[in-house]
Amino acid sequence: MGKTIFRNGWLADVEQRRLVRGELLVEDKRITAIAPRITCETAEEIDLADAVLAPGFIDLHTHLREPGYEHKETIASGAQAAAAGGFTTIACMPNTRPALDTAARVAWVKEQAAATSIVKVLPIGAISVEQTGRELTDFAALQASGAVAFSDDGRGVMSSKMMLLALQAAQALAVPIMAHEEDAELAGRGSINAGRISQQLGDEGIPAASEFIMLARDLYLAELTGGHLHVCHVSSAESVHLIRAAKARGIQVTAEVTPHHLHLTEAVVPALLGQAKVNPPLRSEADREALITGMLDGTIDIIATDHAPHAAHEKDVPLSQAAFGFSGLEVAFAVAQAALVQPGLLTLAELLPALTCRPAAILGLPQGRLAVGTPADLVVLAPQKRWYVNPDNLRSQGKNTPYLNQELIGQAVLTMVDGSIVFRRDRDASDA
Ligand SMILES: [Zn+2]
Repeated sequence: MGKTIFRNGWLADVEQRRLVRGELLVEDKRITAIAPRITCETAEEIDLADAVLAPGFIDLHTHLREPGYEHKETIASGAQAAAAGGFTTIACMPNTRPALDTAARVAWVKEQAAATSIVKVLPIGAISVEQTGRELTDFAALQASGAVAFSDDGRGVMSSKMMLLALQAAQALAVPIMAHEEDAELAGRGSINAGRISQQLGDEGIPAASEFIMLARDLYLAELTGGHLHVCHVSSAESVHLIRAAKARGIQVTAEVTPHHLHLTEAVVPALLGQAKVNPPLRSEADREALITGMLDGTIDIIATDHAPHAAHEKDVPLSQAAFGFSGLEVAFAVAQAALVQPGLLTLAELLPALTCRPAAILGLPQGRLAVGTPADLVVLAPQKRWYVNPDNLRSQGKNTPYLNQELIGQAVLTMVDGSIVFRRDRDASDA
């Protein structure tokens, strides 16, 4: 493999949360030098032209839909979307058909990814057989074939005993349980957040309590077992308060929030209807503000996309029939900037750890920072670039985003995995 040198830009030192002027050399799949000036006559030069070179983003919560739902997304198309969004590593949820509940099924995803994916794919194993919450999967066997964590994402684990056993098993293997906190009975059959808007629209409503009551249980179970509870897609203020208190008690808990929950509220639902339907739902402005506060004070560790692609016929239907979820990989960086950077709450350098070194730390991955000897998984960011979310240009098969045809600011313009450029776009094109 050849050598590549990045010049004339800013390097994101995510651990120190700063941008520094410098050059970076890649050879043999790794970063081999970082310095103010590097001389290497045999390297191909990439002129950053004042753009930002950052570690490739790491998403701990992606739905790739394969096997079983290839009409929504495949591993190949999801990986294309990831690279276009600046992601070089994605952890994929097991709620496929069949679910990733056996070692062979986990191994199949690894093999399919090796054959078709342009980014690194890390499968997450199911907590329970067929994700029905009744019988624990063989965690050790799934881990041996490549599972990096366990989750029944898409639904909550209703049995307290099952969650206790899952946290014990995960603790023994030193991997996290990634918990979708939702009490199905409290959640009911609503489509959007329970409140004034759900009443206006005649929707049953999904109360925040369906999330934070199960979360409260799981925090106690994490304390009892010593297991690592990673809370998926936190959406409510009370959940933020519970996680903050649990961290203060020393419970091993980490948490993620999606860009859309940081940026949008239920107020967009009347205009967008099915295109604003997501689980957990977009909630109130008070909830959104609590999520922002949780990001700023470290209660919430990372940003994850919950990329949930669907076909058009599954979203362009009445609200009650629409599928839950947004296609998120390609807009995540820009939406995170809209929520945190453009309002002046964080600088770009302060935002980047939530997309890079912190998700890496949760799974113990070597990538996620710019350091000599680490994998050359990199993204070149044009943080000020204005672009339109044109469905024809989204690489994901899922065009289901509430940001369709809107202008966003900030985009990945080049993505590199293990030293190979896997994605590149014209920096000046506003609809690329
Ligand atoms: Zn979920």
